[in-house]
Amino acid sequence: MRTLRLHGPRDARIDDVQRPDIRPGTVRIEVAFGGICGSDLALYQDAPVPQDYANPIMGEMGPHSLGHEFAGYVVEVAEDVDSLAIGDLVAVQPNFADGTCPSCLAGHPNMCDNYAFIGIHGWGGGFSESLVVPADHAFKLPPEFAPEVAALIEPLAVAWHAVNTAVLPDGGTALVVGAGPIGLSLLLCLKAQGAGPVIVSELSEVRKQLALDLGADLVIDPREEDVAQAVLRVTHGRGADAAFDASGVGKASLQVAVDSLAPAARAVIVAGFHHDVPLDVMPFLFKEKILTGSFAYTTQEFEAVRDAIVDGRIKPERLISSTISLSEVVEKGIEHLLGDGRSSEVKILVRP
Ligand SMILES: [Zn+2]
Repeated sequence: MRTLRLHGPRDARIDDVQRPDIRPGTVRIEVAFGGICGSDLALYQDAPVPQDYANPIMGEMGPHSLGHEFAGYVVEVAEDVDSLAIGDLVAVQPNFADGTCPSCLAGHPNMCDNYAFIGIHGWGGGFSESLVVPADHAFKLPPEFAPEVAALIEPLAVAWHAVNTAVLPDGGTALVVGAGPIGLSLLLCLKAQGAGPVIVSELSEVRKQLALDLGADLVIDPREEDVAQAVLRVTHGRGADAAFDASGVGKASLQVAVDSLAPAARAVIVAGFHHDVPLDVMPFLFKEKILTGSFAYTTQEFEAVRDAIVDGRIKPERLISSTISLSEVVEKGIEHLLGDGRSSEVKILVRP
C-alpha cells in the first residue's frame, strides 16, 4: 500500500508499506481525498516529531504518514462495529485525547496534554491508499455527498472552534486577517454561526476575490488602506466584536487584529507563529481587550460542521483550488504551496 511518510526535514517519500490490520472498534477506509494543510507544510519543513518518539495514545514510532484532513469509503468493518457499513462515505476526525490529563478532565479534549493526530503522530495518514481508524472518529455522510467536500470538514472544524472561542455576539462584526484556507473557512463559519458583517484583510488578488465571492462584506488590502482604521469606520468608531489572525505574519497581522477590536472583545490566534511577536499591550489595559488562541476542535464541533455542510449552511466547494494524485503530493502539492502556489492556491486535495 502506498503512503506518504515523513522521514526528516524536507524528506517525505511515497513508501510501499504493509496494509495495517483491522482491530476491534475500527474500520478500514479507502481514502477518496486528503487535503494539504498549512501544518503539513510546517511538518515537512521541520519534522518536529522525533522518529523515536511514540505518542502515548498511538504508541507508534516514526516515520509517520502525513495527511490529517481526509475522507473516504468504508471497505472493511471490525466485527464489533455496527455503526458503519461497507460503502459508507465518512469524514475522519483525526485528533485523539487521552481523557485523563488535567486538560481533558477540565473539559478541553482538544488541548489534551498527550494530543495525537492521525497523519502526524501515527495510525497512518490521509495521503495513503487506505488506513484503519476508530469507528467512533469516522462520521458518516449521506450517500450522494461529494467526497471532496467531506475532506474539507476538518479545516472547517478548526475555524468553527475558533468562532466559538471568540464568543461573538449574534450579528456582531468580525475581522479576519488572512484569507488562506483557514481565513476563508472562518468567513464561512462566521456566517453560518450568525455573525453580522465580516471584514477580511488579504494581499493576494485571487484570495481577495474569493473572499468576496464567499460572502465577505468588505475586503481590505492592507497595502492600500489601514485595516484598523477601516474597521473603525465600518463600525462607526466602535471596533470589531471579534478578530482572527489566520495569517501568522507577526506583529503586522496580530497588532492589527488587536487594534481593530471593540472594548473587551477578543482577538483569536488561529495560525502558527514561528517566532516571537512584539505587541503594544496597553489596549489590553485601557480597553480590556482579550488575546487568546484556538487549537483544533472537539468531536461535537466536528459533527456540527458536518451537519452545517449537509444542511447547506456552509457551502465550501470553492475552497478547493486544485486536485492532484498521490505521486504528485510533494512536488505539485507541498513544494508548490511553499513556493509559487502560496498566493494563488487555497486548498489542494490529493486523490490517492
Ligand atoms: Zn488529555
